[in-house]
Amino acid sequence: MERRIDGHTKLYALIGSPVGHSGSPAMYNYSFEKLGINSAYLAFDVPLEKTKDALDAFRTFHAGGFNVTMPCKTAVAQLVDRLSPAAELVGACNTVVIEEDGTMTGHMTDGTGFVRNLLEHGVDIKGKKIVLLGTGGAATAIAVQAALDGAAEIAIFNRKDEFYANGEKTVEKIRKAVPSIGKVWIEDLDNEEMLTRVIGESDILVNATRAGMSPLENVMPVPEKVLRSDLAVADVVYNPKETLLVRKAKEAGCKAAVGGSGMLLWQGVAAFELFTGKEMPVEEVKEKFFQ
Ligand code: NAD
Repeated sequence: MERRIDGHTKLYALIGSPVGHSGSPAMYNYSFEKLGINSAYLAFDVPLEKTKDALDAFRTFHAGGFNVTMPCKTAVAQLVDRLSPAAELVGACNTVVIEEDGTMTGHMTDGTGFVRNLLEHGVDIKGKKIVLLGTGGAATAIAVQAALDGAAEIAIFNRKDEFYANGEKTVEKIRKAVPSIGKVWIEDLDNEEMLTRVIGESDILVNATRAGMSPLENVMPVPEKVLRSDLAVADVVYNPKETLLVRKAKEAGCKAAVGGSGMLLWQGVAAFELFTGKEMPVEEVKEKFFQ
């Protein structure tokens, strides 16, 4: 690493709080080194109220770009100069590219990472009926990307908690921006009868809630009876690595049972390409950091 750093090394970073647990510095620095790119990636703990200071600093330092995690994703979308169509619709960004003149463009690669990971598992969302559980950050990015990428229908289910209104907004935004989508709508997750019926008519079930994530690792987001062989099941949760939902989907013989760590990998691959114009050495990164 020391041999790579010189007077021309370009800075990339992750901002948010906390960031100490992040695997991004290891993944990006490994890829920079592997591809001989004179750049370095750090993680900076930035609380929400310091978001603008961080962006000013990146401009001052002529950084090449940065990734964003909670709680700064929405604030950054409001501070950058331009937004990609997905970031604009989501109202948040996780990747910002900085031009030589300091212009910042915000992107959202969580949704593209999710879609790409599904494709890697043989599931194409184009023309498919999707049931999406969740209306938080991950779910919104997935709903938007699925709509942009040609899903036929998206049925969103969420508990009537503080996230529900965000789901209603997402539905409205998608209807307006992607009129070509057949149907997008939202319903209460507690309406089990409707949930069961709609999953029965759908191709893909996605869990983008915290159900299944430690300490909710024993929580199944849907009744087990909905799992069937011609249903593809995907979970965004990657802690634990195999969630209860993914395990049950495998046991039920679902045609795909996809965990969340691939989404994490592919959103990083997409960001790396936006930063460098190059493809991350995916196979090596997967082997080294995602086993
Ligand atoms: P968030 O706080 O924005 O949203 C939380 C969502 O979970 C809401 O829809 C809420 O209603 C729902 N929820 C909470 N507790 C629930 C319960 N007991 N039952 C049913 N629903 C419940 O969170 P987020 O940032 O969207 O993250 C959600 C999950 O996705 C987390 O496990 C996170 O680690 C994961 N995630 C994964 C990736 C990836 O790359 N794989 C990326 C982002 C987030």
